[in-house]
Amino acid sequence: MAPSGPSSVRRRCRRCLYWIPVLFISIIVCWSYYACVIQLCIVTMENIGEKILCLIAYHFFLLLFVWSYWKTIFTLPMNPAKEFHLSYSDKELLEREPRGESQQDVLRRMAKDLPVYTRTMSGAIRYCDRCQLVKPDRCHHCSVCDKCILKMDHHCPWVNNCVGFSNYKFFLLFLAYSLLYCLFIVATDLQYFIKFWTNGLPDTQAKFHIMFLFFAAAMFSVSLSSLFGYHCWLVCKNRSTLEAFRAPVFRHGTDKNGFSLGFSKNLRQVFGDEQKYWLLPVFTSLGDGCSFPTCLVNQDPEQASTPTGANTATKSIENNPFPAKPLRESQSHLLTDSQSWNENNGNSEKGKLGMSNPGLTIENET
Ligand SMILES: [Zn+2]
Ligand SMILES: [Zn+2]
Repeated sequence: MAPSGPSSVRRRCRRCLYWIPVLFISIIVCWSYYACVIQLCIVTMENIGEKILCLIAYHFFLLLFVWSYWKTIFTLPMNPAKEFHLSYSDKELLEREPRGESQQDVLRRMAKDLPVYTRTMSGAIRYCDRCQLVKPDRCHHCSVCDKCILKMDHHCPWVNNCVGFSNYKFFLLFLAYSLLYCLFIVATDLQYFIKFWTNGLPDTQAKFHIMFLFFAAAMFSVSLSSLFGYHCWLVCKNRSTLEAFRAPVFRHGTDKNGFSLGFSKNLRQVFGDEQKYWLLPVFTSLGDGCSFPTCLVNQDPEQASTPTGANTATKSIENNPFPAKPLRESQSHLLTDSQSWNENNGNSEKGKLGMSNPGLTIENET
């Protein structure tokens, strides 16, 4: 049954309002097209060779920019897989039980076979009350989309979409190509902009467009370059914007570098293995978005990396009633060529067992 009434009308109105920033960007791009192609290239430029070269280069940058922008806006964010959702009986159980030990048992039972490494600040299993699911690592509930988003980076009003696992590569390319687009305009427009100030240009309508085109492109270049630079840094460190603000919590505690596998692997996790696709807005990110490789299990003090650690690891597996969690394809992929991982692979799975921490409480983090 479709919801009706004032609240649904309000929701629909709000959804329309969310498109205003996208509309704003689209209008600016349309105007920049008119100003650059018609006023700058066709009307103002005198040299035919320069005109053609400028038009070809402009359309090339525009195509890449619009393509990546389109993909960022219209790629649906990915939500957690079915296995993370509570079953009907578990939901009933959770609702029936008072908040406490029995609720923790339900979640602990659910999480034991799931590839979850991260916890809430208090060490509890990350659970979304709203979506009724155990949150996969790096997944967060977006209050605007009202859904749990895999590897959520942030909700971006300029694309009216959540930036996350499914479109993070597109978002990076969108930043890169919009920056290139603006820089190209600044570079082509500069000499005509100077001519405008030195009265070298005839007093036409083109003057107005050339001047504003330069100011707008320069202004956007500055803000885009800082944002792009920041996201390049995040990719190198394998952090999402949310994780940069609040470091993920693992069994042994908070670790801002918890998902970092080194520069090259971090880059490949977002852009994929095949370099020929890196610069194209097509989906090539590695993994399934639900689980992410982490080297932390190898550095865990309870792991068998030291002779004393070996004993602790054995002890932890004996005390733990849960079977070893399988290492997923997406997790193992990036780690397969890592020597240390291969050596400790068996132990790292055991290490995950100990994460079923006794201090579990239901905590809804948004
Ligand atoms: Zn949720
Ligand atoms: Zn969102």
